[in-house]
Amino acid sequence: MMRLTADDRKWLSDAAGGSVCYGEPMARHTSFRVGGPAEALVTPATISDLSLLISGLKDRKLPYRILGGGTNLIVRDSGIPGVVIRLQQCCRGITVESSNNAQTALTAMSGENLQKLCVFAMRRGFQGLNFALGIPGTVGGAIRMNAGTALGWMSDVLESLIVLDPSGRMKTIPKADLRVAYRSMVFPDTCNAPENVIISGRFVLKSGDVGAIKSEARKILQQRRRRQPTILPSAGCIFKNPSTGKTAGELIDLAGLKGYKVGGAEISLKHANFIVNTGKATASDILTIMAQMRRIVYEKFQISLEPEVIIEGE
Ligand SMILES: Cc1cc2nc3c(=O)[nH]c(=O)nc-3n(C[C@H](O)[C@H](O)[C@H](O)COP(=O)(O)OP(=O)(O)OC[C@H]3O[C@@H](n4cnc5c(N)ncnc54)[C@H](O)[C@@H]3O)c2cc1C
Repeated sequence: MMRLTADDRKWLSDAAGGSVCYGEPMARHTSFRVGGPAEALVTPATISDLSLLISGLKDRKLPYRILGGGTNLIVRDSGIPGVVIRLQQCCRGITVESSNNAQTALTAMSGENLQKLCVFAMRRGFQGLNFALGIPGTVGGAIRMNAGTALGWMSDVLESLIVLDPSGRMKTIPKADLRVAYRSMVFPDTCNAPENVIISGRFVLKSGDVGAIKSEARKILQQRRRRQPTILPSAGCIFKNPSTGKTAGELIDLAGLKGYKVGGAEISLKHANFIVNTGKATASDILTIMAQMRRIVYEKFQISLEPEVIIEGE
């Protein structure tokens, strides 16, 4: 369903202060390599362009979504109506704010690659981000999803974040004001709109030994390569782990679903909680296979699996 009028498009092209692509296939911007077109994909050049864009969209009552690296997203084949905003140009940079013998505080902008942040910290002997090695996507996406593994979550090292609210105002939110949970970081009620844009995160990391951090990093990456499919497109783990008992992957495996296919989507033989795109999958194939996984796991174990991936589009 189209949301932008000819007048909106003219305004957008003038206001964006960066690039605007109309009808841009989201398959080009998601790690699953599926998804129909965004009505408009905008890449603002600066934070002030972003701020003007967000407040203008609010005034015009136009819907918008923030895109990070697209590594935790399934965009439906019909695409996303309204505006999708990428921050990879306007929100860049990693800055050391303060450092002493015990710890370092640094700020990472949300459009930065999460792996760049991990390597930045590792090379300087700042300890605490190795858990995030191998998690693709941006710093902003990782904060929003509270990305992590059994070794740690983003919320373990985050001190505060800066968000831009839909009126174009910046706010600093300390971690104590965030509702932090497994794969979620919820903003306080006063700025709980999903349209809030994370601009940056401030992290506090302990001082450590560069050699020891690097050697731990090698082991973490080796383990990831051994356990997860890394060649075919995916969005990582599809379902959250239930709060107790077996993991989602163990349940799907016990249900005998490894290798099960719908169209071009397949439940990975290596890790049952990964769906991989074997080449020509559509979002509809992936959503169909997800529904079947949920149904079969529920029938066998009476456990309702909750998606970890975000599903966008109508
Ligand atoms: C091979 C593979 C392995 C993975 N392994 C892991 C893992 O071990 N642990 C884990 O937790 N995840 C894992 N993931 C999932 C994914 O990489 C993480 O959730 C990642 O942090 C998402 O970041 P992103 O920038 O790609 O966000 P996106 O997928 O682009 O967006 C995710 C959500 O965050 C919102 N968002 C993004 N940026 C902002 C912002 N600046 N402000 C406000 N909202 C924003 C989006 O609107 C969307 O709702 C894996 C994915 C893949 C493909």
